[in-house]
Order: sequence, then C-alpha cells, then structure tokens
Amino acid sequence: MNRLTSCKECRSTLPDLLLDPAASSNTAARAHLESCAPCNDEFRSLQATFYLLDAWQAPEPSSYFDQKLAVRLREEQAAPPAGWFERLRTRLTLNTGRQFRPAMVGALALVILLGGGTAANISGRRMVANPSATVNDLQILDKNAQALQTMDQLLQEDSSSDEPATQPLT
Ligand SMILES: [Zn+2]
Repeated sequence: MNRLTSCKECRSTLPDLLLDPAASSNTAARAHLESCAPCNDEFRSLQATFYLLDAWQAPEPSSYFDQKLAVRLREEQAAPPAGWFERLRTRLTLNTGRQFRPAMVGALALVILLGGGTAANISGRRMVANPSATVNDLQILDKNAQALQTMDQLLQEDSSSDEPATQPLT
C-alpha cells in the first residue's frame, strides 16, 4: 500500500477525497487522515464548506421579473437607434476585437490612401524624430517635384534617343 509521504501531498488529494470518499485511489489519503490530526481537521473543514454549498439555494426571481424584462426589452426596441458614434463606441467597448480586424485594416488603408502615408507616419523613407505634419507635407511635395523633374529628364532623353530611330532608313 502506497503511503502518502507528507501532509502537503495529502492536502492536494483532499478535494478528490471529498468528491469520492470511497474511491480506491483515495485509500492512502484516508489512511493518512486517520493518523494525522491536522490533516483530518482540514478535511472536516472542507467537508463543512461543501455541505454548506449543498444547502445553499439560489434565490428565486420575483414573480414580476419576466414582466419587467419584457417591458425593458420593448422599450429598448422602440427607442430610436443610437447615433453611429454611440454605436461605434459601444462596439469598441464590448467587442472582442476579432470581428473588428478587417474594419481596422480597411480604415488604416484608407488613412494611408488619403494621407499619402503622412497621417500614419509610415511613408518611412526618412523617419524624423518628431516631424510636424506641415514639414512632412512639404517634404512630400519636394519629393514629388523631384520625381516630376526626373520624369521630364527621362522623357527628354527618351525622345532624343528616339530621334535616330525615327529617321527614315536609306
Ligand atoms: Zn497530515
């Protein structure tokens, strides 16, 4: 017969013993309880709590509960729908985040599209420590001007290099 080596080991088996006192796996625990007064006290205390829970009964709802609930439901259904901001706030407060992710991605994409990356500060070509929006916009404009200039130069080079080809072959 396997004897429990310590009181600590015995305490961990007490809940099992409480739920199924006759189980063969609890034989060692029962034997320990017979020889150890502190563990036995602990077990009696647990048992008392357990019986107390058995005796406890959930209070019955008042007889008007269903009626009141129905009235509240009708009120909520008849109430004018909340504004979009209120609804958004409610969803943000109560949602688990899962159903919101596509919307968040969409909103972020919209921000990037509208702001050209400046609003979310993810244009990322040159991360300034704390750029103001104006400075950032000016930088973007500057880059656009440079890009247009480069484009013009390329087009000019293209047309000049095209010239020999356009000459009729003789
Ligand atoms: Zn013990």
